[in-house]
Amino acid sequence: MHWFLHGATGVLAANALPQHPELALSASFISHYALDHVPHWDPGIADATAKWRSPEVREFLLISLPDGVLTVTFALLLPLLVPSMPMWLTWGCVAAAILPDIIDGAAKLSNWPPLQAHRRLHDATHFNHYLMPVPWGWNLVIHVAMFTAMIVATYLAINANAHGSLLAY
Ligand SMILES: [Zn+2]
Repeated sequence: MHWFLHGATGVLAANALPQHPELALSASFISHYALDHVPHWDPGIADATAKWRSPEVREFLLISLPDGVLTVTFALLLPLLVPSMPMWLTWGCVAAAILPDIIDGAAKLSNWPPLQAHRRLHDATHFNHYLMPVPWGWNLVIHVAMFTAMIVATYLAINANAHGSLLAY
């Protein structure tokens, strides 16, 4: 999944559970594997030995890199623009929501066994778009629909928490 969707899930978790950082951070991290399971198309470098100017590298530079830069920029700005958002928890949850892909990136650069074990788990839980290609249009529809749902849910969660905790115990 594109990072803007993983990031939005982290923002939702932070704002739904501001009183429970441990739950918000775990939910953000676990949500990554759940979201990766949804049918979609991923650009990126599947192979660390991919050659410069190869289609993988071109896709990465065209799509994954701007997606990553925009996600991190917006995630950093959002709690500064929306005062009711918890700042550190929002940043932490966005980081937790994209962390599996960062670990995967490290696994492509290092052969350290724990990283490779995580990579196998990540691949196993990931929708396989090589086996079942998802057309670009559908990929966009799926991402935009889920992103919109996350934004609406975050707005509702902030409002609900303003009138008492969503998870009061
Ligand atoms: Zn992933």
